[in-house]
Amino acid sequence: MRTFCDTHAHTIASTHAYSTVHDYFTAARSKGLQLFSITDHAPAMPDAPHYWHFGNMKIIPRVMNGVAMLRGIEANILPEGKHEVQGHRNLSALDIPANLVPFLDITVASFHEPVFTPSSVKTHTRAAIAAFESGLCQIFGHPGNPHYPVEPEEIVRAAKDNNVAIEINNSSFTHSRIGSEAYCLKLLDTVDKHDWKVVFASDAHIAWDVGEHQACIAKARSIDFPEQRILSTSPHKLVAFLDEHGKQLSKKLADWLESLPTMAS
Ligand SMILES: [Zn+2]
Ligand SMILES: [Zn+2]
Repeated sequence: MRTFCDTHAHTIASTHAYSTVHDYFTAARSKGLQLFSITDHAPAMPDAPHYWHFGNMKIIPRVMNGVAMLRGIEANILPEGKHEVQGHRNLSALDIPANLVPFLDITVASFHEPVFTPSSVKTHTRAAIAAFESGLCQIFGHPGNPHYPVEPEEIVRAAKDNNVAIEINNSSFTHSRIGSEAYCLKLLDTVDKHDWKVVFASDAHIAWDVGEHQACIAKARSIDFPEQRILSTSPHKLVAFLDEHGKQLSKKLADWLESLPTMAS
């Protein structure tokens, strides 16, 4: 199994990350990655860029040297009743100012400690489902975090109902969110049972990590998780999924998609 897309990475716009967009394009190309997404933190996180960062991503070339980049955000799942951040009215259970939505190709929705105080399984599950139902996110980010346990059956069913893919985050197996493994395996199993979809993501905070999915691949192999449920193996699959959310990427990336080697489709 090989992946060609990475849907989660941070640039220096989130200040605890250390690479630029240019660095990511260079690293992605040298690794044979076809598509990556930058997903810096949305406004509720202490190290988030000013929200203008997201509106101006339109100036970044969509394709450089054969590699495509999606314009993304890692949004924060907000506690119930706290749907206003830094004076911006939010549409929903996520901290995405309404005026940013048209500029975003992809939204990962995640729990983060500075924004959401860890609570009960029921509270996490309800908040995540509210985020899915907002229609604003396409991916549930690092859901294996042991600080935010969720009810896997309810989560996967709601994700499928709202067309949200479950992320399996490589860094959860290597250096972040220690203790995620059992939760991730349970989620993979539940996704398979319900005939749903995942993405594999590096959550890179430095360009050399982009496309690193080896731990995800190893875990998936260990339980015979079917490759057809992994959107990251083909830009065609990922773009078709995002188009179902009205992103029109098959149009915006039409020439590039056509130019891809068929072995990767
Ligand atoms: Zn995160
Ligand atoms: Zn992240």
